[in-house]
Amino acid sequence: MNHLGFKLDKVKVGSFDFTCCEGCQLQLANKESTLPEFLGLIDIRNFREISSERHDDYDIALVEGSITRSDEIERLKAIRAQAKVLVAFGTCACFGGVNSLKNRIPQEEAIREVYDGKKIETMPSMKISDIVEVDLSIPGCPVSKDEVERIMVGIVTRSAVSLPKYPVCVECKQKLNTCLFDLGEICLGPITRAGCDAVCPTGKTACLGCRGPAEDINFPSFEELVLDRKLSISDMKEKLGFYNGFGDYLDHES
Ligand code: SF4
Ligand code: SF4
Ligand code: SF4
Repeated sequence: MNHLGFKLDKVKVGSFDFTCCEGCQLQLANKESTLPEFLGLIDIRNFREISSERHDDYDIALVEGSITRSDEIERLKAIRAQAKVLVAFGTCACFGGVNSLKNRIPQEEAIREVYDGKKIETMPSMKISDIVEVDLSIPGCPVSKDEVERIMVGIVTRSAVSLPKYPVCVECKQKLNTCLFDLGEICLGPITRAGCDAVCPTGKTACLGCRGPAEDINFPSFEELVLDRKLSISDMKEKLGFYNGFGDYLDHES
């Protein structure tokens, strides 16, 4: 029973990792200040980082990581068949993430470079929506726990859930940071979806766009900004490709 005198049903949640560092799942487990309230909201049925218990009666599946092996495809399809709501959880799941860097070179070369030529099954990294329908995407490398909590509360209370539509620059300006463009660096903040509290530029590191494009971005104007500052378009493209979140814009001819 909550303080308003009614009981909210806990939602049954399963969390699953594919090819990734599991940092997004750790975000959920790590924020101790709100962990008890968070766990009070959900019924964890499957979450390797938190519990050894395994149950397959989850309603919401948080799917972390990208798909890089054929057996992962079958496992993902089985999760999709069970889940009422499937959430692409983190940048790897939403866009392919850093794993997609290997897509730039032939797979044989990737195996030679990364696995020292060992016989290993791998294929180009794919985002979750390349394989199954995704109901909700929560980007971030890693995800923001505040945002995940807000979205889970929205799901439990059947309220509308949404991500910020505006770019990282808005959050960065609110913090009165010196713009990295003024220091001669390319920062993807003007075209990247906010929600991370501008954590990178606040730490004097350029945004690499882990949260993917903001809505209604003016990409030509961003390119103009890079050119006006006499910065390199190829460096800009390198940054755009880092998390694989800007595919459409990366293919765009300057
Ligand atoms: S999005 Fe980043 S933190 Fe999350 S699993 Fe992928 S690499 Fe790790
Ligand atoms: S540092 Fe980056 S995020 Fe901050 S205002 Fe400049 S371009 Fe925008
Ligand atoms: S500043 Fe950019 S790269 Fe850094 S967390 Fe935010 S969206 Fe991701």
